[in-house]
Amino acid sequence: MIRCRDAKQWLTHQRGGDPPEEERTALQEHVQHCSACRVIEQHQKQIDALLRTSTPHTHEHARPRPNVSTEQIMVAVQRQQRISRQLEDIRVQQKSRVERMRPMGTAIAALGFFTLASIPLLLLAITIVQTDLVVEALTVFNNVIDFLLVLAQILQAGIILATRNNWLLSGVAFVVVIMMALWLRLMRPPQEVPGV
Ligand SMILES: [Zn+2]
Repeated sequence: MIRCRDAKQWLTHQRGGDPPEEERTALQEHVQHCSACRVIEQHQKQIDALLRTSTPHTHEHARPRPNVSTEQIMVAVQRQQRISRQLEDIRVQQKSRVERMRPMGTAIAALGFFTLASIPLLLLAITIVQTDLVVEALTVFNNVIDFLLVLAQILQAGIILATRNNWLLSGVAFVVVIMMALWLRLMRPPQEVPGV
């Protein structure tokens, strides 16, 4: 049997060196059953590992030195805290960047959609003015409005989906730009023949 206080002293190297054989088994048994000492053992292992990487070994001290100074422990603990703080900073930065990009992405997608949607309407207006076939044009207009409503619903669903993933959004924006370019190219009026 071993007392909790003794176990803690062995685990934190306060007694110097490793416990003798008979005490070692008792210590292992105690750690298995005592969660407080288990936490201390794990913490001490981390500190030992950090000290092993931060202090150069000599040949006669190939093993971690059992007696570490308070200063060394403080350095190791501070290093550990600094690393976890840096990781937390990175995590927060990434999160805020994603938050900032989300509304911007939605705005770009919406702008692309409205630009695309306004082109057929503009062309339709020109057709009405040029042909004077108002009744027929209105029927077409209604069909176009129906079509645009369906298209708007599909795109709205697309935008909601896209804002969840910035990469997907970039892809959608790219496709919209390409489609706009193709549309403008196809709808360009034929060149006037000179002298007519
Ligand atoms: Zn204990």
